[in-house]
Amino acid sequence: MAEMSNALAADLDELARACRVLELEGHGDRVVGHMALRDPEGRGLWMKRAGIALGEVVDRRDFVLLDFDGHQLAGDGKPHGEWPIHSELMRLRPDIDATAHTHPFYASIYSAAEEPLATIVPRATTQPLRTPRFEDSSGLVGTQDMAREMVEVMGPHHAVLLRNHGLVTCGPTIKDPVLIAIAVEKMCQESLIINGSNLKFTAPPESELAHKLEEGTQLDPAIVGGQVLYDYYCRKLARAEAAGDPLFASERVPPRGR
Ligand SMILES: [Zn+2]
Repeated sequence: MAEMSNALAADLDELARACRVLELEGHGDRVVGHMALRDPEGRGLWMKRAGIALGEVVDRRDFVLLDFDGHQLAGDGKPHGEWPIHSELMRLRPDIDATAHTHPFYASIYSAAEEPLATIVPRATTQPLRTPRFEDSSGLVGTQDMAREMVEVMGPHHAVLLRNHGLVTCGPTIKDPVLIAIAVEKMCQESLIINGSNLKFTAPPESELAHKLEEGTQLDPAIVGGQVLYDYYCRKLARAEAAGDPLFASERVPPRGR
């Protein structure tokens, strides 16, 4: 393993837990889906290794260090082929240190819809989310050119749907892409249900979304900031793991060929 400070090791253990929270919240899709964290020393990024599910990411040993051109500098196992999603987000967005790409059920279906994703049920606990759609291809985002276009489509926002494929989210800290991914998946579920219901419906106007967030912030800024929600998901994960939920590995899966 490359030299790693105690702080980085602790962050990668946290990133492993964040992967498992995503699995817990319905973002697992067999052994695909990944998260990454910017290397604090500027060497590139730490990305989940390929071949294991999000629920099988146990700790720091399940990440590989890549430079921004995808060369592996450290770590056991191989990176996923969609590493450019993470490298280009971090290269082009200095405000972003943590990223996630998943194939959650409802968001993956909604990614095929041409109608922009609307907020149906605003929550006083969540920042309003803009989720543009990257329409270039349903294929893997496996080149830096394609990933750069994806980052352009995302603009200043923190989520982008990949057409007929899945979801990419990001933020300044590890909890952000997780909470945003969970929120977008719920928004997609709500939109699919109401659009499929044949009922006439209204989506709240922008002014109401802003007002509800304002109310939430006054009530409890820590909830809107996300830490309270993230801590809740971590407690829920700990209970699932203690109960022996088979989604979660009790020990590390060795890299293939070893
Ligand atoms: Zn994918």
